[in-house]
Amino acid sequence: MRKPIIAGNWKMYKTLEEATQFAEEVKGLAPDPEKMDAVICSPAPYLAQLVQVLDGYPVAVGAQNMHYEDEGAFTGEVSPVQLKDLSVQYVIIGHSERREYFNETDEAVNKKAKAALKYELTPIICVGETLEEREAGNTEKKVSTQVKAALEGLNDSQVKQSVIAYEPIWAIGTGKTATAEDANEVCGAIRKTVAELYSDETAQAVRIQYGGSVKPENIDELLSMEHIDGALVGGASLKSDSFAKLLEAG
Ligand code: PEP
Repeated sequence: MRKPIIAGNWKMYKTLEEATQFAEEVKGLAPDPEKMDAVICSPAPYLAQLVQVLDGYPVAVGAQNMHYEDEGAFTGEVSPVQLKDLSVQYVIIGHSERREYFNETDEAVNKKAKAALKYELTPIICVGETLEEREAGNTEKKVSTQVKAALEGLNDSQVKQSVIAYEPIWAIGTGKTATAEDANEVCGAIRKTVAELYSDETAQAVRIQYGGSVKPENIDELLSMEHIDGALVGGASLKSDSFAKLLEAG
């Protein structure tokens, strides 16, 4: 049985005060850690504060990006060593906004996934197709190419520890959700790709989230699907009451 994982992606929103207040509000509403993993991926400046406020509560803290080098002359970047130093547990890798606006390549995503795992940070590796790719019937081809590139050189145990987020780009922040059936089909195709690259056992162990306009109204149906093991949530993770509702799902 794969444990569902709900991760909020705050993107570039919130002040320190708002971030702190959110953490205070959700810490008591956190799910049973045996039944679900909950993660908040905040802007980098608030990570230390969130780790402190959520210490001892079953809500983990994640970053939204990192560099793959341990250290160096990379102005403005944050390293896996620094995230580990703050007791951050997760890091989103290859979000479509980073691929689109910051030229993040499949090769960089792979390097970042390796660097995260080296420091025992759980990578949430994002893949997904554009509307044009979907309409051309290329969804599974695109997604499996991204998955193969992201996992290149990882061993079975590293893949099992990773989380893959299927996020159709046309559904992110648009209010358009893939149907639960469509999302499940692509998550199933991702699992098949992992089985071909590794083994059935590894494919059955890896957790695959869906992301794209997830909200309290559609989370139950998404989580009821065979291959959907959780959600990566942008907009609906910004308010503590709707995030708390997502944590009650499943
Ligand atoms: C995201 O940021 O990864 C995302 C899926 O956003 P939203 O839930 O707002 O579509």
